[in-house]
Amino acid sequence: MEGVKEVLEKMGVPSKEDLALVEKAYEFAARAHEGQKRFSGDPYVTHVVETARGLAGMGMSARVVVAGLLHDTIEDASVDPKVLEKEFGKEVRFMVEGVTKLGRLKYRGAERHRESLRKLLVATGQDARVLIIKLMDRLHNMRTLKFVPEHKRKRIALETLEIYAAIAHRLGMGLVRRELEDLAFEYAFPEEYAQTKKIMTSASKTTLERLKKMSRALQKDLAKEGIKDFHTDYRIKGLYSLWRKLQRKEGDVEKIYDVAALRIIVPDVATCYRVLGIVNQQYQPLPNKIKDYIAFPKPNGYQSLHTTVFSGDGGIVEVQIRTQQMHTEAEYGIAAHVSYKEGDKRLGAGSSFDWIKSLIPGLGSARQVAAEKSGKVELNRSRYGAQGGPEWLEELGEEAEDPDFEMTLRTDLFTHRVFVFTPTGDVVDLPVDSSPVDFAYAIHSDIGDHIAGVKVNGKMVPLDTRLKNGDIVEIVTKKSAVPTHKWLDFAKTTLARRHIRLALDKHKK
Ligand code: MN
Repeated sequence: MEGVKEVLEKMGVPSKEDLALVEKAYEFAARAHEGQKRFSGDPYVTHVVETARGLAGMGMSARVVVAGLLHDTIEDASVDPKVLEKEFGKEVRFMVEGVTKLGRLKYRGAERHRESLRKLLVATGQDARVLIIKLMDRLHNMRTLKFVPEHKRKRIALETLEIYAAIAHRLGMGLVRRELEDLAFEYAFPEEYAQTKKIMTSASKTTLERLKKMSRALQKDLAKEGIKDFHTDYRIKGLYSLWRKLQRKEGDVEKIYDVAALRIIVPDVATCYRVLGIVNQQYQPLPNKIKDYIAFPKPNGYQSLHTTVFSGDGGIVEVQIRTQQMHTEAEYGIAAHVSYKEGDKRLGAGSSFDWIKSLIPGLGSARQVAAEKSGKVELNRSRYGAQGGPEWLEELGEEAEDPDFEMTLRTDLFTHRVFVFTPTGDVVDLPVDSSPVDFAYAIHSDIGDHIAGVKVNGKMVPLDTRLKNGDIVEIVTKKSAVPTHKWLDFAKTTLARRHIRLALDKHKK
């Protein structure tokens, strides 16, 4: 029972029912994994305890913690999902099955497939809690990666960087992302890791001294201006993130101004702007480096004011100004909102994370609900839906490595879309119940207008087949083939229907 204590400690003051449920899950997991060992030699149950502990530490509900304890029972202990449902309820079964499904998707390394897999992962995740459990599971696996046989480490590390850290980033979970990245970096790119570490050690020393000096001076300035209840802090850039940035700056660390950054955390938004004014008055800011991520949050919801200033002693320093709520959101992202939903009132409604909330079942985003009430659904869509492309693209800034993925996450796709592949691995996302005809038109109207047949997963199928997540679809075209009236019975997308009608009209004449 030692293990369960560590989980319960993180749970604050659980109710009697929660306590009983978590203890029961622990015993169940310990029995299911009995005799199994980790590569480290530890009993297997330590892994699920650590996963659950991470979840409890983020304020997840007892049911999520329970799913964390049970997350490997289907895959590694052959427990029947029906038994999980009987013992722990439908929701727990759903989450454990979701995590199991995600674990079966394998990373194949090809650039295209990697992107596809990430999208698929998000699409099949459906419930944000499943992704959060999977991330905590991966985090413990990464913390213990040194015990895993060497030939496996690199693949796992790459997969972590390319998929799991990326997902943590999109979900706004800054702390998890950073730890995943830095743990994986060492195994994925050992030489670069060693180099970057050296650069960081020498760069951060001078910067940190500079930050401390500036922080003391600013505290006085702010107090003089009557600003109360603020605190300052600093953060050092993650190694992986530094390496990525070095690559964009020709390897010149002198061109990177946020190796370490000064943070000022204040009570409210108005004070953020006042503090920005004071900082820019005291220190000469660099042109084009003042970023208002409060008015224009980053696509993953990140909010703060950034300014980069001359420190006055020959250095350049980045200052980040934010409220406590923005700070919590930057560290925990979606996790902060899942726990909010489950009764923890840490975060208020109407934050920049509204779009993320729409991904959590049973919790429509506040904006969405308000918009629907007032009939202003369009407004919501234009900002958060796929149509909002150009607007949010501008806000992506340096983070715009894969805008498509952003778009996927930001639309309401979790329950209403399917993701299918072209034979070369490109992803096409379509509404649920779409047919190969919709797929063909989504690629090109010329392909749609000349469909002769279709293969799904290598087999010829009828044109009215309903596509499923992960299907590989190949359209066979013939110049002489033309759309028929029947296609309108099953074509789902407006795009396809419009083209079919056009083609039918044309052939009538
Ligand atoms: Mn696991």
